[in-house]
Amino acid sequence: MTQKSPEFDVIARHFTRPARNAVLGVGDDCALVDVSNGMDLAVSTDTMVSGTHFFPDVDPETLGHKALAVNLSDMAAMGAMPYWAMLALTVPEVNHEWLEKFAKGFFDLAEEFEVSLIGGDTTKGPLTLTVTIMGEVPAGAALRRSGARPGNDIWLSGHLGDAALAVAHRRGQVKLSEADYLEAVMRLYEPTPRVSLGQALRGLATSAIDVSDGLLADLDHICALSKVGATVEAERLPISEVGARHIDTPQGLSAVVSGGDVYELCFTAPSTARESIEDLTEVLRIPITRIGQVRKGKGVSLLGADGKPIKVDGRGFDHFTAT
Ligand code: ADP
Ligand code: MG
Repeated sequence: MTQKSPEFDVIARHFTRPARNAVLGVGDDCALVDVSNGMDLAVSTDTMVSGTHFFPDVDPETLGHKALAVNLSDMAAMGAMPYWAMLALTVPEVNHEWLEKFAKGFFDLAEEFEVSLIGGDTTKGPLTLTVTIMGEVPAGAALRRSGARPGNDIWLSGHLGDAALAVAHRRGQVKLSEADYLEAVMRLYEPTPRVSLGQALRGLATSAIDVSDGLLADLDHICALSKVGATVEAERLPISEVGARHIDTPQGLSAVVSGGDVYELCFTAPSTARESIEDLTEVLRIPITRIGQVRKGKGVSLLGADGKPIKVDGRGFDHFTAT
């Protein structure tokens, strides 16, 4: 690549910023980071494809925010401290106005979490974004999916409903009023990664996952890796205001419990940790709700107020069967 190529121009113009916490950032063949003693390096990557993971008409600033937010959410789910990000960007054309807005969304969130963009790749093709994030977690202290034990409580941060209902509305599966759609779509486009909560849960939670594919589907991942079952009480689920207006319809309920793009943390903890977890709600100003219990066996069951199992359509977003 010569220094005059459009690719170099894109990198220099939009994606080269001073890298904090890094020995070497954008510009060389590799970035260099100095990993602290006694820490494990936490690494995760997520790809977003236009038309599959976001609507092609999404505002570029929102997309920049979301591409980083979903990766920060993975750091949160491990209890890790995010420091470094890599961005592999595939765009159909060089549109500086679009790139500037995308970079704004990305870097505004990066600044907020003190994450440095230290490298990436820029190519031409159908719009696709891959962000790799790296961070640190004290050796052995990461929140894994495999630590849930029978008798543990199951907790969920934030509220369910908005992101999934916004998607269901766009697909014509539910009908939201315009005001409800505008409120719900904010949560779809600008999720808040629960990074401080994840770190605070080290030593308290026995397992954790971020809800990206859907609550029931993601909790089932904890169950599978922990070799346990889970019972969720529908009555306890924290539902958003918009969600509450639709929970009584089968499509609404399904969107709430199986809808993806939530980016809240679902975690398990022994009942002795209840008070400490409730304190976190105050300290971090994040709603955290106890939604059920880990049990022996396997799979996730959702119970209604009458104690009977509720059947819901769909088990969450599946990348190979989703339409
Ligand atoms: P190489 O030829 O080694 O693949 P590139 O020419 O692709 O390197 O990239 C030059 C430098 O710019 C590298 O340091 C790379 O990490 C960085 N880079 C490329 N694209 C991006 C991007 N979209 N965001 C951030 N850094 C990027
Ligand atoms: Mg390259």
